[in-house]
Amino acid sequence: MRENAWKKYDEQSMKKVFEFSEGYKKFISDCKTERECVDEAVRMAKSHGYKDLEEVIRNQEILQPGDKVYANNMGKTIVLFHIGKQPLEMGMNILGAHIDSPRLDIKQNPLYEECELALLDTHYYGGIKKYQWVTLPLALHGVFVKKDGSIVNINIGEDENDPVVGISDLLVHLSADQMQKKASVVIEGEDLNVTVGSIPVKGEEKEAVKKNILALLQEKYGVEEDDFISAEIEVVPAGKARDYGLDRSMIIGYGHDDRVCSYTSLMALLEMEECEKTSVCLLVDKEEIGSVGATGMQSLFFENTVAEVMDRYQDYSELKLRRALKNSKMLSSDVSAGFDPNYPSAFEKKNTAFLGYGIVFNKYTGSRGKGGCNDANAEYMAELRNIMEKEKVAYQTAELGKVDQGGGGTIAYILAQYDMQVIDCGVALHNMHAPWEIASKVDIYEATRGYVAFLKHA
Ligand code: MN
Ligand code: MN
Repeated sequence: MRENAWKKYDEQSMKKVFEFSEGYKKFISDCKTERECVDEAVRMAKSHGYKDLEEVIRNQEILQPGDKVYANNMGKTIVLFHIGKQPLEMGMNILGAHIDSPRLDIKQNPLYEECELALLDTHYYGGIKKYQWVTLPLALHGVFVKKDGSIVNINIGEDENDPVVGISDLLVHLSADQMQKKASVVIEGEDLNVTVGSIPVKGEEKEAVKKNILALLQEKYGVEEDDFISAEIEVVPAGKARDYGLDRSMIIGYGHDDRVCSYTSLMALLEMEECEKTSVCLLVDKEEIGSVGATGMQSLFFENTVAEVMDRYQDYSELKLRRALKNSKMLSSDVSAGFDPNYPSAFEKKNTAFLGYGIVFNKYTGSRGKGGCNDANAEYMAELRNIMEKEKVAYQTAELGKVDQGGGGTIAYILAQYDMQVIDCGVALHNMHAPWEIASKVDIYEATRGYVAFLKHA
């Protein structure tokens, strides 16, 4: 273990690594919101023979080993089950990850005009360095839901013929005061206002530029100003993920955290031809803000859905549900901090992830004295080592960074409450939570191989 994973590949298998990354690049270029990720996951699941659990329930179908179902929670969280040969009570092998990413959300009363510029006010989502989000081409993704319940999808700024929007920063020539400020307040939350227009409607005295933007929205999307009240529009970096490095060994893209673990977990499950234990892929929303809400991991959605699946398997009881959860094993996948030679002092090299060294296992994360972390059992870690080595998966172990430098959390601790074995693992990044994050293609490939190994052998 702990070897540069590129070294083990011959030309043939190098080709596989690069081919696999093309599918991933397309996924993160197209899916920049949790809703878009769920829509795509549903498409992929259906093409692999998965059925909507709601239909299975409605038609009172009976599930058998080998059957595949998915459940979509409000379009923002999805769980897929591939029913195994063993009864569910014996436990499931669960791959979990999150599909929400840091971004700026448009406020509910966002549109205003200032000195003949039209702007949209935002509220940032997740932990960001606010100064990184100015002077970039940004896109708008999301939905307006009109009073009659109809949904208008918005995706502006991805097609090369689309306009983009953005947030201004003060010119350096006049930044004498700004440059003295702490990085946390150089750009403040209320200053993250997106410029969307500058042409006034002719013959209008007041707010003529804003009126022009509203006319455009009406014409193109059939929405009016009040429809922002029931909209969810996310401001994200515009443009596709691209190869990074002269050797094309890495990918720069928006939302690797945590779509890199979501896509690889999903691909691993879809690849399974048959399963001993029921195999599960759980892709959740709201991790970046504490896993709260109906679509976050703390919701009862997952537990309720397992109960529904057991019921359709004609093997449900409250006790059997408890046992199914308790006997399960989980890889709670999220991104890890990759060692960055520009900032060596933040890392402790012996216990840090390196880009290109394969899937990362974090026995614990947390901050300060392991605060808030899920500390996986040594017994479980030993089992996983054995599985990874059996399938020759490149893996490494790491902490998030130096003790006392900060920390982070994931969804692991929430599933651990069912008394199941859970460990944090995932893919190492540079630039975590920046508009453009970096991941290594070989780590993406090895993570997928690791997930497949887990589903087969755990
Ligand atoms: Mn994450
Ligand atoms: Mn994150």
